[in-house]
Amino acid sequence: MYYIDPHLHMVSRTTDDYETLAKMGCVAISEPAFWAGFDRGSGDSFRDYFRQLTEVENKRAAQYGIAHFTWLCINAKEAENVELSREVLKIIPEFLDCPNVLGIGEIGLNKNTRNEAIIFQEHMELAIKYDQQVLIHTPHLEDKYQGTRMILDMLASHKIERTRVLVDHVEEHTIGAVLDAGYWAGMTLYPVSKCTPARAVDMIEQHGAERLCVNSAGDWGPSKPTAVPDLILEMRRRGHSESLIRKVVYDNPHEFFSQSKNFKLPDPAQRGQNVV
Ligand SMILES: [Zn+2]
Repeated sequence: MYYIDPHLHMVSRTTDDYETLAKMGCVAISEPAFWAGFDRGSGDSFRDYFRQLTEVENKRAAQYGIAHFTWLCINAKEAENVELSREVLKIIPEFLDCPNVLGIGEIGLNKNTRNEAIIFQEHMELAIKYDQQVLIHTPHLEDKYQGTRMILDMLASHKIERTRVLVDHVEEHTIGAVLDAGYWAGMTLYPVSKCTPARAVDMIEQHGAERLCVNSAGDWGPSKPTAVPDLILEMRRRGHSESLIRKVVYDNPHEFFSQSKNFKLPDPAQRGQNVV
């Protein structure tokens, strides 16, 4: 089955991963800007990173027939540095017209601090000013519930169409609030934290598949870039229909991304293979 991984940090993955993803049916990836594993020292480091996301990574992906899209921001961890963040916020508009940019992301909170909240709000203002979609990271483990509440409160104060915002890394205790508020929700399949394929399928069964996406959030840490096919397998094992599976792994991210003028995918029917 063809699928889209809406959250995958390919700058930290190998070319072999692209080949494996292509063989497993991945036709498109969206790559939010994130923390590199160390704090960067200047705005210029981010300019180079954005060039990598908009000029280099898409070409690597294309070698394997995978469409590559990206989101730009300074991540929540480095947003603690307000001065650096404001420098980066000034750089972002230079890249918003690049053909693979879908919007602003992944912004959000890390430790739910005041500075993180200030920069979150400034990213939202930028997104609205430039008519961009938004992809949001919610904090890890013990900070997730409170951080998600804070994010939903902050979002409510901005005039943005709710269907143009995806709140990512939801779990059982946060998914309901995100969907009820009218936003898209993303479930992340991680081997060590976040969500397993079985828990993700439980959530689909409980909440339905509307406005729900699933991703691997593969990065430089313990993660599995091919986690979406694990979910496909788990759904098949439980007897879910192929059309429901396809909705979660292909139609939904396609619908969400299609709100960006830069999102174009070749028609799967024209790929020379039947879509299962
Ligand atoms: Zn991420």
